[in-house]
Amino acid sequence: MIDPIVEPSYLELHRTGELQKRGEALWRSMESCELCPRMCGVNKLKGEKGYCGADSQLMISSFHQHYGEEEPLVGRGGSGTIFLTHCSLRCVFCSNWEISQGGRGSKRTLEEMADMMLVLQDSGCPNINFVTPTHYSPHIVLAVDIAARKGLHIPLVYNTCGWEHVEIIKELEGIMDIYLPDFKYADGEMADRYSSGALTYPELTKKALLEMIRHLVMPNNVSGSKEVISWIAGNLPKDTYVNIMSQYRPLYKARDYPKIARRISSEEYTMVVEWARQEGLTNLNIQG
Ligand code: SF4
Repeated sequence: MIDPIVEPSYLELHRTGELQKRGEALWRSMESCELCPRMCGVNKLKGEKGYCGADSQLMISSFHQHYGEEEPLVGRGGSGTIFLTHCSLRCVFCSNWEISQGGRGSKRTLEEMADMMLVLQDSGCPNINFVTPTHYSPHIVLAVDIAARKGLHIPLVYNTCGWEHVEIIKELEGIMDIYLPDFKYADGEMADRYSSGALTYPELTKKALLEMIRHLVMPNNVSGSKEVISWIAGNLPKDTYVNIMSQYRPLYKARDYPKIARRISSEEYTMVVEWARQEGLTNLNIQG
């Protein structure tokens, strides 16, 4: 659970000027963008767009109180979710493909993003939850700096597909309070096929994982659930919070791929839960 008494460490970074400094350094890095493992090297500051579809113009799809997140994040007011437009992973089964790949969203300034955070905080949200943040990490850090000046004081959640450039994650140390990474695939070839050539997904995601993990169970064991569970049990504390997600649906282009063209069966889900128990994981979020 998030302890409301502990001050998030980004506030100290704000007071010392470190937050702004890191945000500006990340911003400058967009001159040859390597914010995610695609490492396109495009100059976003000159309006060039990378594989993610984003240039340096911040675009946000929506912001709202979200009650569908993991229970510890929801509290009474719902997680204060900000949905960012575009995505670097680009899965064929994406449930938010209109936003992540269709570009749905509005152009926003950093000030506007900061004000969204304050509106969510005033609405009773216990945290600010950045969904698909990777390609906009410079904007997020600078907007948090503005919001901190205006009174933001609740924890920050980095809600990511898990496929991250570790050097960028290091830059976010002390800024983000909770990392909420997916762990989608154990097998790079599956990631290659269903997430636009992301062959390095398992290797890089293992490096990026910290304390909270989501694992989406997919049909026909496309996500390699047994290996994912074994890796978590072998490399992280046994009481790591693991959300075993059952909500896979064959959306977007998924029906073009026979192996992932259906929902999962209850047997497939139960088997993954059983594997997690056998591996000794004790802090499971089991659905349904
Ligand atoms: S964030 Fe976008 S532009 Fe930057 S490396 Fe990743 S895909 Fe390319």
